Amino acid sequence: MGEFELIRRFFAAAPCAQGGEGVALGIGDDCALLDVPSGEHLAVSTDTLVAGVHFPDPCDPFLLGQRALAVSTSDLAAMGATPLAFTLSLTLPAADEAWLQAFARGLNHMAQACALRLVGGDTTRGPLSLGMTVFGRVPRGSALTRAGAQPGELLCVGGSLGDAAGALPLVLGERVAAASIAKPLLARYWSPQPQLELGLLLRGKASAALDISDGLLGDCGHIAKASQVALHIDRTRLPLSEALLSLGGRQAAEQCALSGGDDYRLAFTLPERHLADVQAHWPDVAVIGRVAIGEGVHLYDEQGGELSLPERGYQHFGPSRD
Ligand code: ADP
Ligand code: MG
Repeated sequence: MGEFELIRRFFAAAPCAQGGEGVALGIGDDCALLDVPSGEHLAVSTDTLVAGVHFPDPCDPFLLGQRALAVSTSDLAAMGATPLAFTLSLTLPAADEAWLQAFARGLNHMAQACALRLVGGDTTRGPLSLGMTVFGRVPRGSALTRAGAQPGELLCVGGSLGDAAGALPLVLGERVAAASIAKPLLARYWSPQPQLELGLLLRGKASAALDISDGLLGDCGHIAKASQVALHIDRTRLPLSEALLSLGGRQAAEQCALSGGDDYRLAFTLPERHLADVQAHWPDVAVIGRVAIGEGVHLYDEQGGELSLPERGYQHFGPSRD
């Protein structure tokens, strides 16, 4: 199978590549053409996923396809953007039909769920890696950036934390757990759901936001820095799932929630007056702390005593506390 046949069969023919609103020209030309209405920004984010670094190799290609797109789309959610389109740069060791079919099905599944159209990409031979670029639309002045948090506001997250980090040893085959525990945790690792509707709801309400990909503490550090504030996190208020608590107890669960990666939940700062409205639509939204004058991220226990911070989130080029 040649490169062009591969693109045609598995990608250009996929339901998510058949165009739609905002796509003036899709796969097949030198560029895709996207419509952006006046008064809106084009939101763009790109991610690279390398086999053995970002996902285990080998792994289920269906799950990989849907997870890769979910991870990229989470950045659109964090910006309060409406999904528009995406491109896929695929580097493959071989053109394995069964693998490609399952991968394309997984990709298509997530693309349809997020209303994203596949509009182009690149296909090369080499060690397995994926590059995804997602495009979204957001009205001018409405994007949720990391800057803007104000002292006194609430610090919130979009749901339970640490599940994907708890699942990692199961994903890697380093440990096993009863199905009632393993199943929900593995689902949070392999099928994170980008919090797109939450992102839209937070437009005009949240003062700063991001999606948690490298661990709560590290990612909150980005909001603190960009907004020039301190974030105070109350350890007792971390939302922890039953499955995660059952896996290894409270202390291990808290560690996963604070420092584990791959949550893809939104973290955001919110003036208190919006909380009831946000929780009426999203009951899973949890208040975990407050914005304060100062800098950095600070962790407190039930008595209000400050705790030293555990290891920060994953970084590719060595440890740094910046
Ligand atoms: P060019 O040489 O102009 O970069 P290519 O031959 O690489 O074009 O690709 C032909 C068309 O197929 C382009 O529209 C490109 O965007 C699309 N394409 C290539 N690989 C993929 C892929 N993996 N998924 C979706 N579209 C792809
Ligand atoms: Mg090309």
